[in-house]
Amino acid sequence: MGERRAALVTGAASGIGKAIAERLPTDGWDVHPVDLRDGDLTTREGNRAVVDAALERFGRLDAVVANAGFQHIAPIEDFPEDHWDALVGVLLTSPFLLAKYAWSALRERGDGRFVAVASAHALTASPFKAGYVSAKHGVLGLVKTIALEGAEHGITASAVCPAYVRTPLVEEQIADQARAYDLPEERVLEDVILERQAVKRLIEPSEVADVVAFLLGPSGRSITGAPLVMDLGWTAR
Ligand code: NAD
Repeated sequence: MGERRAALVTGAASGIGKAIAERLPTDGWDVHPVDLRDGDLTTREGNRAVVDAALERFGRLDAVVANAGFQHIAPIEDFPEDHWDALVGVLLTSPFLLAKYAWSALRERGDGRFVAVASAHALTASPFKAGYVSAKHGVLGLVKTIALEGAEHGITASAVCPAYVRTPLVEEQIADQARAYDLPEERVLEDVILERQAVKRLIEPSEVADVVAFLLGPSGRSITGAPLVMDLGWTAR
């Protein structure tokens, strides 16, 4: 049996984060799963608290999976400034703070891993998602920077970029998308959500968890500073 390694996974109460927290132990990972009840990741204190709690629990930290997120759909003219701030806070500033606060622990391992669950929206835009698209493009820049600064310490960083995944985040945007596009709700999946994907299906959370497990495993060592795109052909056009 190899040495057990420890990972912090955010947004672990639901969807993709939950699937990642359930998947990693099968590869021998100890997982510290965190969500809103453990600390609000829009705050510096919340991010500090979850890193400290993981270190206190395991005495080490080999990987950070920055996954927590949410969506808000509105045209720019009506986009609430508070929602913009919160989206940037959770999707971009939290991954930066997690990397900053976990840095010395990751460096100590000599093989630290940082994975952001970004999105196809880190590479391409959709209307009515200004906050989400901007923050996801930003987190890809963060991952590239972590890769450059982390290289000499053995820290790798990558951004998983899925198309639409079957989670509450997608289910809860159907009504908003119907309103934004002026479509009946039953048309939204086909006409909006899956419209630009070459393959017309939702990705399962377990498929994203498998990719994260690969990136954290020995075969993922050469992937750093890059998006890992699993977008069912969305950005191929
Ligand atoms: P989800 O809504 O099922 O889960 C997200 C979790 O993040 C929730 O449990 C929520 O409580 C937590 N969270 C949100 N804000 C938080 C905060 N301030 N502090 C602590 N926890 C917070 O969503 P999901 O679909 O599993 O999304 C996970 C990640 O995957 C997100 O970053 C999302 O942008 C990304 N993503 C999702 C899809 C998709 O289609 N579902 C596609 C690409 C990328």
